[in-house]
Amino acid sequence: MVTEDEAIRRILNTLSEVEAFKGNEINIEDLKIASNKFINDNNISKELSKIINNAIDLFEDIKGNQKFDNLMKLANNNGIKVLTKDFKSDARGLLAKNKIGLSSKLSLKEATEALAHELAHIYLHHDKGDTIISDKHEEYEEQANRTANLIIDLLNVL
Ligand SMILES: [Zn+2]
Repeated sequence: MVTEDEAIRRILNTLSEVEAFKGNEINIEDLKIASNKFINDNNISKELSKIINNAIDLFEDIKGNQKFDNLMKLANNNGIKVLTKDFKSDARGLLAKNKIGLSSKLSLKEATEALAHELAHIYLHHDKGDTIISDKHEEYEEQANRTANLIIDLLNVL
């Protein structure tokens, strides 16, 4: 049984090591598995487990924000304005010329995926006309999704 002070010290150590990676190389899932193992192995109280999990969530948010910021930079560097809109439909993102609209209902993770998806359309389909009414709509969507996944995976290793 580890005292709470000791547990907090160990968590802070772990987080400072994580900080040394600047959030780039740490896999959140690995961190969650490690912290769950730590919580189980050391019989950590419910309250403290909550603090640990909140810290990991916070870290995930910071990392998520970095990804989103990097995608925003990519958009800005290409002269694309990104706006948040209260969509009437359940669309996550829309693209019109040099503007990307993101639904205001999205979580940060969803907004990151939607932004990567719309940016992928700009790179892949800027010369294909209106991709929504195109016969190849589904094909274009699949291409944008695959490319968005690649962009997001790259942001995890850069
Ligand atoms: Zn699309």
